Amino acid sequence: MSNKGFKCARCGTCCCWSGYVRLQNKEVDGIAAFLDLTMEEFTAKYTVLTHDRRNLTLIEHEGGRCIFYEDNSCSCAINPVKPQQCRDFPLRWNFSDWEKECKGAQSVDIA
Ligand code: SF4
Ligand code: SF4
Repeated sequence: MSNKGFKCARCGTCCCWSGYVRLQNKEVDGIAAFLDLTMEEFTAKYTVLTHDRRNLTLIEHEGGRCIFYEDNSCSCAINPVKPQQCRDFPLRWNFSDWEKECKGAQSVDIA
């Protein structure tokens, strides 16, 4: 897939579907510091262990919305330190028919 011209439309859809947002160790430290929390406080309040027990993942609300997604402003509360997984969608990872969900894909010609 070419990434030429892709522009995120900030629709928030990818923050609101259910699924893991896996955190790398260094990301845990960074997000905790950004929130002015200790690592222990951050992990207890905002994360759970994935079923495979390999990573921490961000807690999601019922229905799938990420705990850091702010409905009022349609934005990520931890945007400067958001996980790499979030930064990488949809250009480094995506799924079948992702273009139907992502408004950014509808605004450009993705080959
Ligand atoms: S951390 Fe931010 S960018 Fe990632 S899913 Fe949550 S709200 Fe979206
Ligand atoms: S679904 Fe696509 S357009 Fe919407 S916020 Fe995510 S990357 Fe941006």
